[in-house]
Amino acid sequence: MLEINEIFGPTIQGEGKLIGTPSIFIRLGKCNMSCAGFGVEYKTPNGEIKKSCDTYYAVDPAFKKEWQKLDCEETVNKVSKLLPNYKIDIVITGGEPLLYWKNEEFQKLLKYYVEENHTVTIETNASLDIKFTQDYQRKLLFSMSVKLSNSFEPEKKRININTLKEISSKTLNSYLKFVVDKNSINIVEKEIIEIRKKVGNIEIYLMPLGSTVEEIDKNSETVINMAIKNGFKYSDRLHIRIWDNKRGV
Ligand code: SF4
Repeated sequence: MLEINEIFGPTIQGEGKLIGTPSIFIRLGKCNMSCAGFGVEYKTPNGEIKKSCDTYYAVDPAFKKEWQKLDCEETVNKVSKLLPNYKIDIVITGGEPLLYWKNEEFQKLLKYYVEENHTVTIETNASLDIKFTQDYQRKLLFSMSVKLSNSFEPEKKRININTLKEISSKTLNSYLKFVVDKNSINIVEKEIIEIRKKVGNIEIYLMPLGSTVEEIDKNSETVINMAIKNGFKYSDRLHIRIWDNKRGV
């Protein structure tokens, strides 16, 4: 079974390489990190105040009651009600979707959408060990948002060079994406360059930290300058610019 936090769309992909592309999102619950450094304050259903990222409701098991247990077929049926009359992209996000990599229903879902000729993106922190064992897996696009020290997660937990190499060598268009903020720019710049040295040639996108337009605006110019300096690409966070942090759009 898959624990699904939400299925929504059609909307546009708000960030990364395929920004602006019409997509349907399948958001899985659970994450192996909490990223308190991203500073989004929220209240759990029990009234506890915590900090995490902007998708805390798919990360913190305190919201588990909102997650639905679905198998591949039930998920496909729900998505089919949202499909437009063209071949839309499917984005599998979280939480951390690779927590389900060894789950049979998860693999069935990936295979189904790849074989139906959808572009399938997996949005992941790429910190878990995975191996490619099937041909359809090579057709996936991994948007690897590797976490840096500004997430406040320990380095050992967030950087998995073997997985980054496995994904970048086995798939065609996968890329790295880093969340960067003005205050930690010098430290994270060194960290990104170090990761690039170890992983080898791979496309790199930088995104400004922020869960509101004001926060994004505070960081964006510094992040753009860092991208230009290093030959990285800048990715905005379009969904936040347009819908702030509203869910399900
Ligand atoms: S790894 Fe991603 S989903 Fe998990 S807590 Fe960090 S930012 Fe959120």
